[in-house]
Amino acid sequence: MNKYFSLRIEKLNEKSFNLSGLYVLYYMRLSLREDFNYALEFSIKLSNDYKKPLVVYCPITDYYKFSNIRYYKFMIEGILNAKKLIEERGIKFIIEKTNIPPYKKILEKSKDIFCLILEKGYLKYQRKINKILGENLNTTVFEVDNDVVVPLKIVSHKQEPYARTIRPKINNKLDEFIKPITKFEPLIKSNKYDFQFSELNYKKAEDYLNILNIDKSVKPSNYFFGGENEAEKKLKVFINEKLHRYKELRSNPVFDYQSNLSPYLHFGNISPVKICLEILKNYSYEDENVKSFFNELIIWRELARNFSYYNARYNEYEGIPIWAKKTLEEHKNDKRDYIYSIEDLENAKTHDKYWNAAQLEMLKTGKMHNYMRMYWCKKIIEWTDDPKKAFDIACYLNDKYELDGRDPNGYAGISWCFGSFDRPFSERKIFGKVRYMSEEGLKRKFDIDKYVEKVNKL
Ligand code: FAD
Repeated sequence: MNKYFSLRIEKLNEKSFNLSGLYVLYYMRLSLREDFNYALEFSIKLSNDYKKPLVVYCPITDYYKFSNIRYYKFMIEGILNAKKLIEERGIKFIIEKTNIPPYKKILEKSKDIFCLILEKGYLKYQRKINKILGENLNTTVFEVDNDVVVPLKIVSHKQEPYARTIRPKINNKLDEFIKPITKFEPLIKSNKYDFQFSELNYKKAEDYLNILNIDKSVKPSNYFFGGENEAEKKLKVFINEKLHRYKELRSNPVFDYQSNLSPYLHFGNISPVKICLEILKNYSYEDENVKSFFNELIIWRELARNFSYYNARYNEYEGIPIWAKKTLEEHKNDKRDYIYSIEDLENAKTHDKYWNAAQLEMLKTGKMHNYMRMYWCKKIIEWTDDPKKAFDIACYLNDKYELDGRDPNGYAGISWCFGSFDRPFSERKIFGKVRYMSEEGLKRKFDIDKYVEKVNKL
C-alpha cells in the first residue's frame, strides 16, 4: 500500500483490535463498487494481515426520509453489481434488510467484529453515523476517504469560499493522487462461510423493492440503470464520443455532451480517480477539454465536499454568504410577477415553457441538464415569496427527483444559485446583488426551443 493510499485512511478511535472478533467488517454504504475501492482493498489487506475473514456488509432499510423507488432501484442495481464482482474474488457480501438503523445492527454484532472499515461521508447524517460507530464499537474503526481524488483533509482544514481558492490546493496534489490503486488478493475465501446474518440473496432489484415499504410514486428512470458496469459504459461513450467537444458544448442543453456520470458518482459506482486515469489513457492533461472536465469533476465536485464538511448549514438558506443573505432579505418584499406553489412547480405548471421543460426532464429521466439546473433554481427564487422557502423547495425537489440528489453537489449547486462561491452583481429586484438569469439569456445563448422539443419527445 503506497503512501498516497494510506493518506486516505483515518482511525476514528484509539481502541485496539478486538482479538476475539471473528471477522473484519467493511460496512459498504457510499461506494457501491468493487473496482477502485480503497476501503475494500484496505479491508482485504487487514483480513490478510490478521488472518480474519472479510465480510462486506450492505444493509438496506426503508425508513430513510427520502426513500423512493426511483433511486432505490438504481441503488440496488449498484449493490447487486458490486456483490457479484466482490463474490467473484471469494469475499462474502451480505445484503440484509434491517428494521433498525444499520449502525445499531453493527453495534449488536460488536463482539464478533475484529475491526470495522467505513467510507468517509461529507453530509451531517453520514458523519454522525461514523462518529457513533467510532465511539461505541469496542474495536478499531477506520474511515477511508474513498470517493474524491484528493482526500478532503489534505486539501484544506476550512471552508473554501471560491473555486479559485481551492483550485491551487487541489491541483498541487493531483499528480500524487491520480495513481492506479493497489489491489490485494484475498487469502481467506470467506464467501462460503455463514456469519449469522439474515442474508437476502435475491438476484433482481425488483425482488428487493417488493419487500421495501417505500414511496412508489416517483417512477424509476428508463434512462439510467445503476452499477459499475453501466458506469463504465457511460464513461466509454463519454471518452469516445463527447469529450472532444466538452468545453464547447457541455453547457448547451440542446445537446448531450456531459458525461452523465453524476448518478454513478453519487452512488459510488465509479471512482473519480479511475475516471481521470481512463481519460488520461487517451488524452493529455493539457487538452482544453480535459482541463474543462477535470475542473467540474475534481475542483467543483471537491469544493462541494469541502462546503458540506465545513459549513454546518450547507443545506439551509442560513448557510449562504452574509452579503447574499443581506441583499436577498432587503428585497424580500419586492413584488413578484408570478408566485407558484410547490405543487405548481412539482407538476411543471408555470407560464415558462423552458422552466417546465427542465422540470419535466428531471421528472422523466431523473437527471436535469446542468445549465437548466441553474436556470431552474434561479426561477424558484424569483417565483417564491420568501428566499428561505425557495431554498427549501429547491432542495426538496432536487432530492426527491434527481438520481444524483441528496449529494454535496446538490446543496452546493443550490447554494451557488443563492450567491455562494459567486460575486455580487449590480442590484435588481428580488435578487438584489445575487446573480440573475433570464429567459432572454437562454434564447440568446442556445436554440432553446429545441431543448423543449427534446424533452417533449422523452
Ligand atoms: P459533467 O459535466 O459530465 O461533469 C462530471 C462530474 O463533475 C459530474 O458528474 C459531477 O460530479 C461534477 N460536477 C459537474 N458540475 C458540477 C458542479 N457545478 N458542482 C459540483 N460538481 C459538478 N450535481 C449532483 O451531482 N447532484 C445534484 O443533486 C446536483 N444538483 C444541482 C442543483 C443545482 C441548482 C445546480 C446549479 C447544480 C447541481 N449539480 C448537482 C451540479 C451539476 O449540475 C451536476 O453535477 C451535473 O449536471 C451532472 O451531470 P454530468 O455528470 O453529466 O456532468
